[in-house]
Amino acid sequence: MIPMVDLKGQYQTLKEEIEQGFQETLQNTSFILGPNVQAFENEAADYLQAKHAISCASGTDALHLALLAAGIGEGDEVITTSFTFIATAEAICYVGAIPVYVDIKPDTYNIDPEKIEAAITNKTKAILPVHLFGQPADMDSIMALAEKHNLLVIEDCAQSFGADIKGQMTGSIGLAGCHSFFPSKNLGCYGDGGMVTTNDDEIAEQLRMLRNHGSKVRYYHDIVGYNSRLDELQAVVLRAKLKRLPSYNQERRRAAHTYSRLLAEVVTPPQEDGIGTHVYHQYTLLSDQRDAIMQKLQDNSIGCAIYYPVPLHQQKVFADICKQISLPITEDVASRCMSLPIYPELTDEMVTQVTDVIKSAV
Ligand SMILES: *Cc1c(COP(=O)(O)O)cnc(C)c1O
Repeated sequence: MIPMVDLKGQYQTLKEEIEQGFQETLQNTSFILGPNVQAFENEAADYLQAKHAISCASGTDALHLALLAAGIGEGDEVITTSFTFIATAEAICYVGAIPVYVDIKPDTYNIDPEKIEAAITNKTKAILPVHLFGQPADMDSIMALAEKHNLLVIEDCAQSFGADIKGQMTGSIGLAGCHSFFPSKNLGCYGDGGMVTTNDDEIAEQLRMLRNHGSKVRYYHDIVGYNSRLDELQAVVLRAKLKRLPSYNQERRRAAHTYSRLLAEVVTPPQEDGIGTHVYHQYTLLSDQRDAIMQKLQDNSIGCAIYYPVPLHQQKVFADICKQISLPITEDVASRCMSLPIYPELTDEMVTQVTDVIKSAV
């Protein structure tokens, strides 16, 4: 049996460190915005080469708060991709803005910068690229377009923690980078958690207030904020894992490259376009025989999943705003993509087991 993700292996190796941190927190009882949250923010900011890292309650909140802090609101248009998790677009809607979907590149599944300009109107305020499945979007082109048209750039880094573009970390390039610590993400905690990185002092100050009831000084409230803080216990887990994150991501790349070597003849493996380092949050291939492959994998107790079966512009929730929209590449990829098990502890032997089953299916 090979699951899509296996979080037990990591827990076994980190058990002592994490449980000791839990014990200390239970003893000192600083459960909210305690010393581990502070230390984690410093360590994460350092690692991600960002001046500020402001943790919050989830990746969805990170996006929501970043858009609010950037001043995006009612009636503004935000250009993004339709081939992503719903939270990317939900956050845009939370602030009263409208998601405008642009097609993707067929090789990387990331937003196609060449199609962005045609989607810009006088209501466009921002571009929200997603570094999908762990591969950085083409930030050079996106930043150049943003500069030319005076737009903000907010990065959705929920799947790309630790990915870089020529040494520059995703999340430190645009005005803000939004990270998720959902358990299955490259850096995952044991519940929900999120973070925004930024090099902008004013945005950082806004974010610190927004996540904590609009307050800088306790019981003095400057703006309407939220209760969106990272738990101290989750920060304990994240500090333990952050130290090992570079090696976790290397192991993901190793497993992915073994898959691609063994599968090159039978499916279209995910392509690395060389713009940045792919950290393989997902290993997502294309095949015309997707159903047969998935059936065979399931018969052999091997995990597999479709990320994402229905692109956002075809979701019921967006039926009104997306009536006339057609995104041929997104639609084609959604009809043929499937993802295989991937996590740092997945051995090359296990990868071979999976690829043998796929070869027998096609
Ligand atoms: C997981 C994810 C989010 C949301 O993160 P949560 O922590 O689950 O709220 C946002 N965008 C993308 C692309 C994601 O994969």
